[in-house]
Amino acid sequence: MLHEPDQHQEIRDAVQQLCKQFPDEYFRKIDEQRAYPEAFVDALTTAGWMAALIPTDYGGSGLSMAEASVIMEEINRCGGNSGACHGQMYVMNAIVRSGTEAQRQKYLPSIASGELRIQSMAVTEPTTGSDTTKLKTTAVKKDGRWVINGQKVWISRIQHSDMMILLARTTPLAEVQKRSDGLSCFLVDLKQATGNGLTVRPILNMVNHETNELFFDNLEIPEENLLGAEGKGFKVLLDGLNAERTLIAAECIGDGYWFIDRATKYANERVVFNRKIGQNQGVQFPIAEAYIELEAANLMRWKACEQIDAHRNAGAAANMAKHLAAKASWEAANVCLQTHGGFGFACEYDIERKFRETRLYQVAPISTNMIFSYVAEHVLGLPKSY
Ligand SMILES: Cc1cc2nc3c(=O)[nH]c(=O)nc-3n(C[C@H](O)[C@H](O)[C@H](O)COP(=O)(O)OP(=O)(O)OC[C@H]3O[C@@H](n4cnc5c(N)ncnc54)[C@H](O)[C@@H]3O)c2cc1C
Repeated sequence: MLHEPDQHQEIRDAVQQLCKQFPDEYFRKIDEQRAYPEAFVDALTTAGWMAALIPTDYGGSGLSMAEASVIMEEINRCGGNSGACHGQMYVMNAIVRSGTEAQRQKYLPSIASGELRIQSMAVTEPTTGSDTTKLKTTAVKKDGRWVINGQKVWISRIQHSDMMILLARTTPLAEVQKRSDGLSCFLVDLKQATGNGLTVRPILNMVNHETNELFFDNLEIPEENLLGAEGKGFKVLLDGLNAERTLIAAECIGDGYWFIDRATKYANERVVFNRKIGQNQGVQFPIAEAYIELEAANLMRWKACEQIDAHRNAGAAANMAKHLAAKASWEAANVCLQTHGGFGFACEYDIERKFRETRLYQVAPISTNMIFSYVAEHVLGLPKSY
């Protein structure tokens, strides 16, 4: 195994040190107020952690996927929620991989310094959902501009981003040979766009996760904001997905260890019927089982990191890591809640908050069934099911 548990200890220690300034009470209050953890994200950005994956030539720290994943894991393991800012770490990947040199020079250094926030990726639409290639938002070239019309849903961190990446159809589905062709990616300046063709409507949801409906009504964006080749936006998107899934897997692993730690501590302290509840096999076995599954999921997370860092095709490993980690963190969350009995429901224990937060990852950024479909078709060679 290439990754020993303490291989990234320096990064772990440094991120833990930063996270100590933002204890449970901080995140609890942010959750209660449905606010954005501005001070926390600023601190992470100033310390350079959000620029982990930006190459050093463009002002980033050029860390590996394994190292970047440790940053995300530690944030969640310390009780925080990387969901508020993980987009800043991976959305820019599309510019690194598919942008022109001029786009890289223009955007990456200010993303690395934190001056420019690009935390949003707009793909999902209300009427087509997981069936991405059928999305209906269009981009039409007119007088040297792209004109955007359509609608998106569940687009996160728009109110805390300066720019987003948008996926829209540039050639009608009926006119392309492959349904993933004819889609293109665009860089959208949110400050310019909002109120000038873009309307943003926040969606109140189960987690304190800033996410929105977007309405495009003849939004005009400059021609040079096309990202990657015209009609090949699906590939631009896919190129970044393995990084996104692997980082989210690491976040889930961090959540999972947080739940196991809390469950173990409580089971060792709480006395009922004159003994520690953790002495009962009915209490300790589920915690042990959740831990075993988390450790196993973590191995797949390291495998995905290694494949990405070796520039190998990490599609299967990244999807499987995200699935296993999201499932393991959710099981750990459930066990932790059960171990705490009624107190698990009290906000001051933070378990109900983390329970809600970690549940998201079986639905977003890709739902479990879509991962099963991917593995069935692309790994096992079974017929495409949709
Ligand atoms: C809090 C939050 C934040 C999000 N942030 C973003 C974001 O920033 N950008 C963005 O683009 N999207 C975002 N999303 C959207 C997210 O990626 C989608 O919700 C997710 O991909 C599922 O799409 P859907 O909700 O349309 O579900 P649907 O596609 O309607 O599917 C509903 C259910 O049916 C299942 N299903 C559908 N078709 C099949 C099939 N053929 N076989 C088996 N099962 C099937 C799905 O797996 C799912 O469980 C976010 C969602 C949430 C909740």
